[in-house]
Amino acid sequence: MASTLTDRLSRLVKTMRGQARITESNVQDMLREVRMALLEADVALPVVRDFIQRVKDKALGQEVAGSLNPGQALVGIVHKELAATMGAGVADLDLATQPPAVILMAGLQGAGKTTTTAKLAKLLIEKRKKKVLTVSADVYRPAAIQQLKTVTGQAGAEWFASTPEQQPQDIARAALDHARRHHFDVLLVDTAGRLAIDEALMAEIRALHAAVHPVETLLVVDAMQGQDAVNTAKAFKEALPLTGIVLTKLDGDARGGAALSVRQVTGAPIKFAGVSEKIDGLEVFDAERHAGRVLG
Ligand code: GDP
Repeated sequence: MASTLTDRLSRLVKTMRGQARITESNVQDMLREVRMALLEADVALPVVRDFIQRVKDKALGQEVAGSLNPGQALVGIVHKELAATMGAGVADLDLATQPPAVILMAGLQGAGKTTTTAKLAKLLIEKRKKKVLTVSADVYRPAAIQQLKTVTGQAGAEWFASTPEQQPQDIARAALDHARRHHFDVLLVDTAGRLAIDEALMAEIRALHAAVHPVETLLVVDAMQGQDAVNTAKAFKEALPLTGIVLTKLDGDARGGAALSVRQVTGAPIKFAGVSEKIDGLEVFDAERHAGRVLG
């Protein structure tokens, strides 16, 4: 386990003892430690560079060098900047539309889309008293359609049947029509994922988006994906107008630097965090708490 940023900085400050004052070059040394800590937490390199530049401006401006405990002062600035970066923007689900509100779930295979779809259904039923319908537009994996059926049942929501012979857009349109006729408040559309980004997948999800005009298009990202999360986020952002991110598997031991990368690359707020495999393992994302985790 790598040492925490606070440990690293206090070690550094100890070596500075005896110096009359802390110089700009000491601040540079501290920023190098911050950079290492962020890379260890799996934040992508270009994102780290950008972040460090912002922190540097603040650190020099806020006289870290003149403070009694410069290490702690800098950790404070870094923590605040991390939380502000990851937490900026509206974090709630926007369902303010003529019902049914459509929520499109996007992401790579294995990211946790199907699980998150059911978790979200449960949350909307229990916390927001919504009538929720789910549908799977994954026509490549019949097992995925069945999986959604099972977890939707666990969530206490309703499931709209689909088959691999149908076109994804037709499935989504039929589900939307059903949702309208039966007065559902929300339709959650689970989509096919691939193990890697490919153009066919992106074209398909763009067509799906155009077919049902979702109010929310959520990108589900596996926190364990680490550095690669940046490429996933970039590709999906180019294909879709993302309105939010769900970061899954935060119960694992990933430090969760992906949150910062994905937030920065997409500009979309991180709305939820997946914290277990269970159906109730979804929390509203807490940027403040997550900043502490990233820093260690
Ligand atoms: P999909 O291919 O994107 O639909 O992914 P799934 O929903 O099938 O999830 C893939 C695996 O990740 C399953 O074994 C899920 O139980 C697991 N999973 C999803 N979200 C979480 C989470 O927040 N925490 C943990 N520990 N496992 C998760």
